[in-house]
Amino acid sequence: MLKKYFVICHIPFFLFIISLSLGIGCTRPPKPLPAQNKNISTPQNILLITIDTLRADHLGCYGYSQIQTPAIDSLAQEGIRFEWAFTPVPITLPSHASILTSLYPYTHGVLNNGEYQLSTSIQTLPHILQSHGFATAAFVGAFVLSKQFGLAQGFDLYDDELSPTGEKINEAFPLYNERKAEKVTEAALQWLQEKNPSRFFLWVHYFDPHTPYNPPQPFITEYPDRLYDGEIAYTDQCITGLLQELEKRNILKDTLVVLVGDHGQGLGEHNEMTHGIFLYDATMRVPLLFRYPELAAGIVSSDPVKTIDIPPTILEILKIPLPSEWQGESLFPYFYQPHLSHRKKPAIFLETIFPEANFGWSPLQGIRTKKWKYIKAPRPELYDLQSDPGELNNLLDQYPKQAQNLKNRLQNLLNTLPSPQKNQTVSMNEETRKRLQSLGYVWTNDSATPPNLSQDPKDMIELLNIFDQGYAYYVAGRYPEAVDIFQQILQQDPDNIIVHFLLAASLEKLNHLKEALKGFHEVAYQNPRFNNVHGNMGRVYEKLGNYQKALEEYQKDIKLFPDAPLLYNNVGVLYLKQKNYNMAIEQFEKVLSLTHDQSAHIITHTNLGTAYEMLGMYTRAQEEYQHSLELDPNYLVAHINAGTVFLKTHQIEMAIQEWQKALKIDPQNVHVHFSLGRAFLRNRNFDKAIDHLQEVIRLEPDFLQARILLEKIQKKQTPYN
Ligand SMILES: [Zn+2]
Repeated sequence: MLKKYFVICHIPFFLFIISLSLGIGCTRPPKPLPAQNKNISTPQNILLITIDTLRADHLGCYGYSQIQTPAIDSLAQEGIRFEWAFTPVPITLPSHASILTSLYPYTHGVLNNGEYQLSTSIQTLPHILQSHGFATAAFVGAFVLSKQFGLAQGFDLYDDELSPTGEKINEAFPLYNERKAEKVTEAALQWLQEKNPSRFFLWVHYFDPHTPYNPPQPFITEYPDRLYDGEIAYTDQCITGLLQELEKRNILKDTLVVLVGDHGQGLGEHNEMTHGIFLYDATMRVPLLFRYPELAAGIVSSDPVKTIDIPPTILEILKIPLPSEWQGESLFPYFYQPHLSHRKKPAIFLETIFPEANFGWSPLQGIRTKKWKYIKAPRPELYDLQSDPGELNNLLDQYPKQAQNLKNRLQNLLNTLPSPQKNQTVSMNEETRKRLQSLGYVWTNDSATPPNLSQDPKDMIELLNIFDQGYAYYVAGRYPEAVDIFQQILQQDPDNIIVHFLLAASLEKLNHLKEALKGFHEVAYQNPRFNNVHGNMGRVYEKLGNYQKALEEYQKDIKLFPDAPLLYNNVGVLYLKQKNYNMAIEQFEKVLSLTHDQSAHIITHTNLGTAYEMLGMYTRAQEEYQHSLELDPNYLVAHINAGTVFLKTHQIEMAIQEWQKALKIDPQNVHVHFSLGRAFLRNRNFDKAIDHLQEVIRLEPDFLQARILLEKIQKKQTPYN
């Protein structure tokens, strides 16, 4: 049976506003201190909502008047809102690793998207909650957070399913393939419905505000010139659905809701359109809200805080002891007293290796206090955030002492953070380590040299904007234009790894396979973990018909990412092509054991069916095809293959039925019409046979076999006489 999904989006805003925000406004006085109220219960459940690429200052509750975000605004009104919250890193995977581990990226070692995995030796928030009896589940909205990157630890269920079968996904550069907010919400609610846990930690990740901006209606009409805002408003509506369902199930009152952004978005500030390159507030400041009205309602704190403070806050509220190695600090005291003037204000450490890892430019590190930000770069920067919140006037020359103090503080902070060597990312290979060392990223105490290499990202930002245009062409499938732009960038910046990669991917799409291969080789030489580059090379070798080389490349990638189901599927398909069916079956079984992803299961059962069919094991093959069809009754390939097996086992009526179902899904499928033509011919149903064969010729006039059969029937010389 296909699982039944809830219909949760497209609920009018006002319903939610009535149910959750009765009479509560920003001016409402705070609740009595919990210490004075003995009857306060600890929350039974935790709901962590992370929204990708969400600028705090694009939400109603943060003072933005040009958007409707009633769900998020209500959470703020009924809880505590941190006006100045910061991510330590403006990159999705490292930022989420920090939110779940309470560690700076410097320590947990996940420094960029796509090439790092969180070490299994690190104790995460879900680990701890799981060990305290919470059912734990995660529903993520993009491939960049998929299981293979290590965040699934501690979750009973980690749902990284992306798209239903058949939906177009970007196979060469899948990092930002996404699942829409309503699908993420449906999956999370389905888990709640089926599991009905007595106590849960549920993490829901929405990716929609990330580029490309393509909100559904009515948001595309409501925000025609501000599609980024449209995506935020759309996501907010899906959060409405999520919270309403919790309320309907009477569990919202027992649930601590935490909402946070993983980083902001440049939107052109400092010439950065997206995020990752710089450490300015445009991309480092995020919204942070906790809602549990019994503890705090209508409170706003303006002290600077960090997203790594989330796990300690949750544990303190739950009265669970904190691991000593965590680097965040509990924000619970703010629930009673929004401004802790007496409290020592720790500086916030900021970092990004994105410029280096993707473009070969200098990485950046920074430190932020309430008043100052210092950025360590080839040309360092100092900003007075109170008089210059846009970080437009570099005061380094005016305040050299202040800059030196902050630089020292940054170095002292780095010295106190545990060396990432102890928590080394798994399978980080020697080349990558050496590369990072040579680039000045401090991996060992004896290599603590500052970045000395290369270009300052500030000086390269024009190139980045040209890159963004090329990337937009690539995503839109305009490969010739993308190739032009990427080649132009490489003339100015010949070692730019992401440009090499996307150029190769574009050339592959244009069927310039040998040139594509050359480009991927260049990438693998620079960094073998970059975006599954070996898997990409394998796919190109496969297209070139060199199965042996393809297999070698896939195996290299599997060695680097042993938990990536897609890689085993690729190897399995390759074995199918080589007629090595038993080996293929082994690979497909591995896929099934590695993922709960329904789309992967649908495809894999059909692939398994094909392998069994080729081995002549028709009963088993049919079981696999039917398994796929139970998961997705509209999966075309399974209907076609099931029909073929029915034909092979002389069940012509059944074969006809399957193919007729296939035709309902794809009425113009030439091969299905041809199969039906032949089947009706065997049944001596000449009229129907003629209909289908004529349809074949209408659709594909050069289909010779169909013409021959048709002529034979028309001469009343059926070949089966
Ligand atoms: Zn992100």
